[in-house]
Amino acid sequence: MTLDELESAINEWLSQGATDIFLSEDQRTRVRINGEVVPVNDSTMSRQDLIRLWEACEIDPASANEIDSRYQMKNGGYIRANLYRAMGNLSAAIRPIKAIIPPLDSLGLPTDLIRHWIHRRSGLILVTGTTGSGKSTTLASALEELNESRQSHIITLEDPIEYLFQNKKSFFSQRELNSDTAKFSTALRASLRQNPDVIMIGEIRDEETAQIAVRAAMTGHLVITTVHANNPIGSLKRLLNLNVDATLLSDCLLGVFSQRLVRLYCEKCGSQSVMSAAHTSKAQATLKGCDHCFNTGFQSRKPVMSHILIDTSNKRLLEGAISDLDFQDSMTDEAQTLHQQNRIPLSEVIKLESL
Ligand SMILES: [Zn+2]
Repeated sequence: MTLDELESAINEWLSQGATDIFLSEDQRTRVRINGEVVPVNDSTMSRQDLIRLWEACEIDPASANEIDSRYQMKNGGYIRANLYRAMGNLSAAIRPIKAIIPPLDSLGLPTDLIRHWIHRRSGLILVTGTTGSGKSTTLASALEELNESRQSHIITLEDPIEYLFQNKKSFFSQRELNSDTAKFSTALRASLRQNPDVIMIGEIRDEETAQIAVRAAMTGHLVITTVHANNPIGSLKRLLNLNVDATLLSDCLLGVFSQRLVRLYCEKCGSQSVMSAAHTSKAQATLKGCDHCFNTGFQSRKPVMSHILIDTSNKRLLEGAISDLDFQDSMTDEAQTLHQQNRIPLSEVIKLESL
């Protein structure tokens, strides 16, 4: 396989909805589609195929063991390739760096709520959700809306960069952990001297970052960040555990939302899935699928969301009985509706409830 052939195969898989591509010598190529890793065909990659890719990324296959690399394809698109060895075999985990950011309205989320938050001039917006919950896309779409509507300086601190912003009305400083800065906390502290209006922090992981983020939100910046937790209440507890002052937090917090993705049936074979036992099975069952959906039965995913809006009564509660916060657990309701509409199996609803 030449490099051109590999690039066109990568583009083809990405256009079919693959979010990750896994290549390894003597192995079938697999892609992650709607969260599941599936083989794309029966052919295997040769060592020479992998050597070509490593060399195109300017990495010496003879000496490197694992390394992150950014690579521009001939069509102009960028991919991130983590090149590594597995039992001596050259391998690559590939993910696109996306230049096309979906409009907020296209995501199927309650956009009024998100707009109400992101058009504020200062304050803190928290987003929770696990890896692969689609929260990076939501954040990118929200920032792109600011880019199109507001003349501002937007600093992003990311690990890794997933979307490339083009400066429109706003000016972006996109900074990546490891390649542009060693630590989120150092970059965040420095960002306050870079005169931003909006700061997006990929994730708050430590006390120092949490404290500076709150201080920035208190001093005329809009701060948007993610906190690793299962639900909005959990993310607030996590911040308090990082010794963020509850009074300061309640003063600057605009809202919290959590997001998950549910898998929608494939358009081509969905009716056959609805007829099968898997549709009403509580445990995840295998669907027959078709060529159109890599035999998974699912074609795309839709975000569902729960949130806490910080109003006067929730502000008071935030400083005391945090578990009593008025928390709109709408994601399960929405998933149940999708199941009743025969668009998702019951197991997708159960998956949300079990978190
Ligand atoms: Zn299908």
